[in-house]
Amino acid sequence: MADKFCYVDENLKVINENIAETADKCGRDINSFRLMAVTKTVAPEIVNHAVNLGLKLLGENRVQEFLSKQEIYDKSAEVHFIGHLQTNKVKYIIEPMSMIQSVDNIKLAKEINRLAIAHNKVMDILCEVNIGGEDSKSGVAPDRLRELLEQISEMQGIKVKGLMTIPPPSNSDIFLGRMAELFNDIKSTEIPAVAMDELSMGMTHDYQQAIKYGSTIIRIGTGLFGIRNYN
Ligand SMILES: *Cc1c(COP(=O)(O)O)cnc(C)c1O
Repeated sequence: MADKFCYVDENLKVINENIAETADKCGRDINSFRLMAVTKTVAPEIVNHAVNLGLKLLGENRVQEFLSKQEIYDKSAEVHFIGHLQTNKVKYIIEPMSMIQSVDNIKLAKEINRLAIAHNKVMDILCEVNIGGEDSKSGVAPDRLRELLEQISEMQGIKVKGLMTIPPPSNSDIFLGRMAELFNDIKSTEIPAVAMDELSMGMTHDYQQAIKYGSTIIRIGTGLFGIRNYN
């Protein structure tokens, strides 16, 4: 079993070396950020192998796929939702997820709030920002972010923990920098009941840059599990 999936061990070793080198270069403590394993299209047995290697944070993109794998998952891992989320699907993930990183509109926030209250929990969320202003991407526009955060801050069933982004791949460096600025700006002008503890950014192609720009959660799929057949 372990042998069959040993490419994950090898991949993780490379990532850990890169992380250590980058953290050292930019003077960050390696414990000041976390590595998330992004599991889309990956068989649950392989995900569990990664969990056994110490990857205790999983990122899920699709509600349906998560529901089909959930039973098999090692329960010692924490699971965050990171994909585009339709309002009518929130009910399936309100219990199993410990964070929803992809909140970008008030309608979705209201439904998360309603269901969280019904389940007697407070859901941690991140607001997803469309930092590159790309039509194809989810996320709130940077100039609408503060308004959204203020509206969500009133909701008893939600605790805002920070921001998430997927920058345009071709200009990652510039947009990671802009995202860091936006994050620090919001953080320094404190919004009551809104925490800016988490900045989720950095994927396989840009996680080292993201660490330099202050990411607290890097989300890696391909670099860990190999190339996917679909996205
Ligand atoms: C797929 C995905 C990732 C991981 O991307 P890789 O390039 O495979 O590392 C990270 N975040 C989100 C939101 C994703 O959908």
